[in-house]
Amino acid sequence: MSQIHRPCLKCSKPGTEKCTEILPHQAMLIQVVHDDGSKPCEFEEYASLSTFLTSRTKTKDPKLMNCPVCGEEGRITSYRPNKNKKFHRWKYYMVHEQIPGYWGKTKIKRHRRCYVKTETQRSEILKRLGRYRY
Ligand SMILES: [Zn+2]
Ligand SMILES: [Zn+2]
Repeated sequence: MSQIHRPCLKCSKPGTEKCTEILPHQAMLIQVVHDDGSKPCEFEEYASLSTFLTSRTKTKDPKLMNCPVCGEEGRITSYRPNKNKKFHRWKYYMVHEQIPGYWGKTKIKRHRRCYVKTETQRSEILKRLGRYRY
């Protein structure tokens, strides 16, 4: 476990901070052994948002699934067709393998896409994303 020497976050006396235990919900139990030998402080620290995000993406990419339209594996991509921010209904399409060759003057690589058209297909994607609430 890594140890950091810095002022204690609880009492601000200088000390050595170490993570003694990983708690649920991405929290860590931190113990600070103070330089002056006084009773160590203990507190919970939540991992920063970036750590939280990396540890989540390391597990399994939740955006990959078998396409509800064509059945092949693809990546879920969301877009909001209406620019009005109050409009919360996102639409989805699946991005599949690259289409061979280049497109247009700028030579953009294109990927095959399947647009989600039916409510059933949409709900499959929402379930996969863990956002299904109906
Ligand atoms: Zn302290
Ligand atoms: Zn597809």
